[in-house]
Amino acid sequence: MEEESHLRHELHAPSGQFGHVPAGRGRGQSQDGAAAGTADMVAAMLFGAHCSGGIKKALDNAVGMDADAVQLFVQSPRTWRFPNHDPDDLARFRERRAETGLPAFVHALYLVNLAAPDDAVYSKSVDTMRATVDAACAIEANAVVFHVGSHLGAGFETGLERALPALEQVLDRCNERTWLLMENSAGAGGTIGRSIEELAVLFDRLQRHERLGVCLDSCHLYVSGIDVTDASVLDGVLDELDERIGLDRLRALHANDAKTPLGSNRDRHDNILEGLMGEGLGTFLAHPKLQRLPVLLEVPGKDGKGPNADEIQKLRELHSRAST
Ligand SMILES: [Zn+2]
Repeated sequence: MEEESHLRHELHAPSGQFGHVPAGRGRGQSQDGAAAGTADMVAAMLFGAHCSGGIKKALDNAVGMDADAVQLFVQSPRTWRFPNHDPDDLARFRERRAETGLPAFVHALYLVNLAAPDDAVYSKSVDTMRATVDAACAIEANAVVFHVGSHLGAGFETGLERALPALEQVLDRCNERTWLLMENSAGAGGTIGRSIEELAVLFDRLQRHERLGVCLDSCHLYVSGIDVTDASVLDGVLDELDERIGLDRLRALHANDAKTPLGSNRDRHDNILEGLMGEGLGTFLAHPKLQRLPVLLEVPGKDGKGPNADEIQKLRELHSRAST
């Protein structure tokens, strides 16, 4: 299944939902290092990261690493127990968020499996997703990013019969500000969402719910056998996404390099420029249809403690190089 250490998500806002890039941001876009903010600068992405610290600290940690967007957990990533958040902490997050202007994404617990054949796991997964969406709404997050889960060999259709009613319940708790974003999977162990087509089936079966979106992870695409370092392959994937789901539903990206080969179905994220995608990740970042989206790092970082300021800077520079 998915690695607990990998928690990165990104958002995409084609119609300018995040168009007000905060002053002083996007400087990595400028080739000559001059002050950003001129009208003719390269179209900005919002370069962000999954940050530790949860509701109390993740936003400040993101600001500290010069990120333009933040992804966080709203519970410990290693346990099902869901905390009772202090209303003061929720209010403080909303205030800091308004001050900083950073889009915020909550990543659901990796233990969640909405397609689980086992009743106990399924029930805990649904309860956790409900609590996660409620917390995300309380902090006015842009979305909850989640992995649908794995049917563990029971079959795609059997998995869907578990996941669809669960998703209907969870979507009911979302609102126009806080969406639910399905992340494409790395394709291992019966995971659902390994291709645009599988995501599209979920969309169709959920009657294209108005609060349902997608988060694409570069590493998961690559290890699923979709070589997004190849411009023509990437064009094809985004055309398919546009046709079957709609680019307006793509609300975030995860930018991760891959430690394992194309088509390996093994989910191992690597630092920017250090994995098998290398400079080729720039092809993904610079695609015209992906500009203006929040792009979130879920990389191990130099010390294994997660993304840091250096990784954000490498991401900005790679985007800038690939955009010229
Ligand atoms: Zn991801």
